[in-house]
Amino acid sequence: EGFLSHQPWWRTGVPTEIIRSREGVGELLHRVKQVKKNPFFVVDSVLQDQPVFAPLFAHEALFLFDASASEPKTGDVDTVVSIIKNRAKPHDVVVGIGGGGTMDLAKAVGICLANPDPAHTYQGYGLDMKKGADIWVLPTLSGTGAEITPIAVLRGPEKKLGINNPYTAPSVAFIDPGLTSGVRKYNRFFTMMDCFFHHYEITKSATSSETAVSDALDGISLSRDVLTSGVEEFRMDNAIRSAMASVLGGSSTIGGRVGAAHAVSYGLSNSSPTLPHSVAVTLAMLSLGDLYPDGYEDTVSFLRINGMDTPKAADFGIGAGAVEKMTKTALGMEKLWQSCFGVNWKERATEGYIRGIYERI
Ligand code: NAD
Ligand code: ZN
Repeated sequence: EGFLSHQPWWRTGVPTEIIRSREGVGELLHRVKQVKKNPFFVVDSVLQDQPVFAPLFAHEALFLFDASASEPKTGDVDTVVSIIKNRAKPHDVVVGIGGGGTMDLAKAVGICLANPDPAHTYQGYGLDMKKGADIWVLPTLSGTGAEITPIAVLRGPEKKLGINNPYTAPSVAFIDPGLTSGVRKYNRFFTMMDCFFHHYEITKSATSSETAVSDALDGISLSRDVLTSGVEEFRMDNAIRSAMASVLGGSSTIGGRVGAAHAVSYGLSNSSPTLPHSVAVTLAMLSLGDLYPDGYEDTVSFLRINGMDTPKAADFGIGAGAVEKMTKTALGMEKLWQSCFGVNWKERATEGYIRGIYERI
């Protein structure tokens, strides 16, 4: 598969040192000793029940994050930052262990440690921020690419938006596909769907770089292999493909940009505290058959092959009353519409066009 070979399988330059291993937990703890760092661990609480993670829970410098309860909030970041600041010895590395939600929380904590204001003030792009603690990650669910990207997506008091800053990127990622063996089928499926959509939208984008598109094409093929072979059972070969596709999702995001499906998903997410990002993008793609006919077809067939019910916005408390607010949120995602439609995006991504999409959902 090329996973353990010395050649990287991605082409875009990434800021993260990527350590591939079959012994991810041991490798991480070994590195901690080797570099004499004082780590603080941010760990998905679900991992407490899985023996392979037990050595991590021996550490007392640890915050348990319940990723199944909610995506990370700016308030969670403020809480963890204040816990770390009140500890006797300063921590110089924050380690995020979990899926995209937990890794993003750790990434946000890492940078916010050096920036005095509440985390929600840093949601946005290009803000002037100082470098915080080092950020290391150990993904336990593959697909978001959060193990590489300089983005920490947070739910804030007003909006769901990332801290987008180079100091938010992990400096080290330990990639061990076997660590995803405990993930439920539902999450394995939808997070791989999000991975597929990232790659798909980057290949359709008018603003993606050449290496980003070539990484995204490989990512499409790997995630398609996983999504068409059935995610019912954990399979090591698919876990490796998923881990590789996820890293490519990170690298392709560095030179590429997603488009309409992600813009529409942000409107949906802002109108529901319980809607997972991956399900939001799936809902969006199901309403974009005109714009992305092949992406729509694939979405329908991946749901069918895996025996997954088609998600419904109503199940997440989103009804017709939310259309105006969602339209306003999505209209604001200018970079994504530009990515989708190119220079003349304003003529196509009109209020009426976007409202029409939400009316279909
Ligand atoms: P997640 O982190 O929300 O986790 C989903 C579920 O899987 C949770 O219940 C979690 O407890 C569980 N889980 C994780 N690892 C497990 C394991 N090994 N065994 C058993 N259960 C496990 O899911 P995700 O899809 O990886 O991440 C979604 C989040 O990532 C969203 O908040 C989204 O906004 C963000 N995101 C970030 C980026 C980025 O570039 N930073 C990109 C895409 C998405
Ligand atoms: Zn996404």
